Amino acid sequence: MIYCVEDEANIRDLIVYALKNNDQEVQGFENSEELFRAMSKEIPSLILLDIMLPGENGLEILDQIRKDVRYEDIPVIMLTAKSSELDKIMGLDRGADDYITKPFSVLELIARVKAVLRRSKPGRIRGDSIVIDDVIIDNQQRTVTVDGEDVNLTYKEFELLLYLFQNKNIVLNRDKIMSHVWGYDFEGESRTVDVHIASLRQKLGDRAYLIETIRNIGYKVGTKS
Ligand code: CA
Repeated sequence: MIYCVEDEANIRDLIVYALKNNDQEVQGFENSEELFRAMSKEIPSLILLDIMLPGENGLEILDQIRKDVRYEDIPVIMLTAKSSELDKIMGLDRGADDYITKPFSVLELIARVKAVLRRSKPGRIRGDSIVIDDVIIDNQQRTVTVDGEDVNLTYKEFELLLYLFQNKNIVLNRDKIMSHVWGYDFEGESRTVDVHIASLRQKLGDRAYLIETIRNIGYKVGTKS
């Protein structure tokens, strides 16, 4: 998923249209609030970021992204209407991966997007992570963060949370959880699941609501709304 922040609707539409035509999933936003709201739900593989924006400008947004452990590794391409070298250097120094000067051609846009996606090192993009309401499970690093703060989980707790997250909005019964996470079905052993769920909820703090109890059946992970 590529995110594009651009306040000028015609340019934003052009970018979204061009990338979609190139089989990329893309979402356009007008400002930083919309961007960060979307990022709390899904981490993109790349961000196209306009510099001149109403409210928070692109460089301020870039700073925020680079300072946040959740987002620091996301590749960013800056879009700028000013072609002065200074702007370019500033953008790159602050951790942008590339820049595109407006006006640009669709071909140039696609080429640069592809180049940056190709360059991004394995593990740099959190392709293996699942994000729900700012809870991030990184399957590669085997870490869980809530609002950017690390949460320490035991091996089984991690496996359990991962299984629930992978099956978002699907009700999982205790037997299924038992056999997937523990690798066996033990009749009457489903209490083990409940104990681990209780511990997980405690560790998730105010995101405990993500794990819903489905009466007489089991558990489901879903968002509040
Ligand atoms: Ca602009």
